[in-house]
Amino acid sequence: MIRLQDVTRIYSREGAAVKALDAVNLEVPTGEFASVTGPSGCGKSTLLNVLGGLDKPDSGELWVGDLPLHSATDAQLTAYRRNDLGIVFQFFNLLPSMTVEENVELPLLLRGEPSKKARPRAEEMLDLVGLTKRLGHFPHQLSGGEMQRVAIARALAGRPRLLLADEPTGNLDSENAARVTDTLLKIASQKIVTMIIVTHSSELAALAPLHIRMLDGKIL
Ligand code: ADP
Ligand code: ADP
Repeated sequence: MIRLQDVTRIYSREGAAVKALDAVNLEVPTGEFASVTGPSGCGKSTLLNVLGGLDKPDSGELWVGDLPLHSATDAQLTAYRRNDLGIVFQFFNLLPSMTVEENVELPLLLRGEPSKKARPRAEEMLDLVGLTKRLGHFPHQLSGGEMQRVAIARALAGRPRLLLADEPTGNLDSENAARVTDTLLKIASQKIVTMIIVTHSSELAALAPLHIRMLDGKIL
């Protein structure tokens, strides 16, 4: 369960206070798929940043399971980001000099897993996103949709509790966006990882069982 209780994040801009998050209350059950929509500046990125442990609320409580992110130490946040979190970005962020398989394996190797374990896990995840045939290819040989599915496989490789995505279909044509959406729905149907996805796609947003609409730092 992800639980936000009166979470407020205030930025100062030219001397004035901007409430990027204004006493937000939210519960996302474990394994649920939630979409987040709202106009530019409504607080979507700030919500992802606090959920990702990159930013801390000024007040309120933010729990990921039994971990209180609002009061976590830097060491706890580092461990959380490494072990419990998968992130998918709009622009994929794959390493161009590594193959598809190496990109997916990398986070596992970086946290000290032997390649004997990392390799089959990477292959399992690439099978999940339908890219078994692309194992040995490099990112530049793939379509945008395929690159994003590699990024999804990479984000899931470490068995995160929470998958955060920031505009995962924002840089894709409709056909590639549809494939990425299908992949996300397939993962959601497994109900293993909690998914919170910021999107401008009303289609993707509507497919999520929980649709969070934001305005001016508040959840409508
Ligand atoms: P200050 O606290 O003095 O406003 P900051 O370093 O926080 O200084 O920000 C400098 C300027 O850049 C501010 O006008 C701020 O609104 C803007 N800014 C910084 N980051 C962002 C962001 N992520 N979104 C919107 N505006 C931002
Ligand atoms: P969204 O992702 O929905 O576009 P943001 O979370 O980026 O919204 O921003 C919410 C509000 O907080 C906006 O008014 C934005 O300008 C402000 N903001 C975000 N980050 C900063 C920052 N680092 N400094 C100042 N203002 C910021």
